[in-house]
Order: sequence, then structure tokens, then C-alpha cells
Amino acid sequence: MRLAFICKYCSEETQLNFVVGDRFRFMVKHGENYSCRCEQCGALNEIHVNRIYARTNKLTLIVSLVFTFGMMIYLSNHFYTNYVSGRTLNIGLRGVGIVTIGLAIPLFIWGVLYAAELGRIRRFNDHRV
Ligand SMILES: [Zn+2]
Repeated sequence: MRLAFICKYCSEETQLNFVVGDRFRFMVKHGENYSCRCEQCGALNEIHVNRIYARTNKLTLIVSLVFTFGMMIYLSNHFYTNYVSGRTLNIGLRGVGIVTIGLAIPLFIWGVLYAAELGRIRRFNDHRV
């Protein structure tokens, strides 16, 4: 989750490097009006806490996808080495095993984590002070 605001002078977005759970906690920590310079035009903005919004963090998304693909490759390879190449399973179970362990589990974990991230973003954006 990334916090950001739109500059009232140039209408460009500036990101804030804070980690807060919700808008109320942001207000408690930084006050109702937060002063921050726009990254694009340098103008000093006095931002009301309700003008700050949360959105997805692209870096988190990329890192989590890379991690998920890494886990897919690792688990598929692990499953293949231990159960398929040794021919301890019949062909149907090998296919099911690779799909389940190598693909479904990493995607499921990624989906759960991403849904939690979207939940945090929604909670921040839905609750105004
Ligand atoms: Zn600006």
C-alpha cells in the first residue's frame, strides 16, 4: 500500500513514504493538515488528511509476483525430483501433483496476500475523518 496526494498546483501525484494502517492513525501521527512539497513542481501543499489516498504499490506487486514464480519453479522442481523422476506415482497423479503443488499453492498464497493488501487500501480510502 502506498499513500499519495494530488498537488493542487500542477495536478501531479506525489507519493508519501509512510506506513500507516488507516487515515485516523495518519491524522493522529501527522495532524489533520499535512505539509508536503510536490515532487513535480516543488510547491508546498497543505494537504487535508482526507485528500490523501491509498493505492497499490507497484514494487510490492512486482516483488510478490517474482516470488510467486520462484516458488512455482521451486515447488514443481522439488515435486518432480522427489516423486516423478523416481516413478513412484502414476502419470495422472504426477500431473495433478505438479499443477497443485507447483502452480495452485503459490497462486493461492499470492491471492490471499494480494486480497489483504486490497483490503487495507479499501479501508484507508473508505474511512474519512
Ligand atoms: Zn505540483
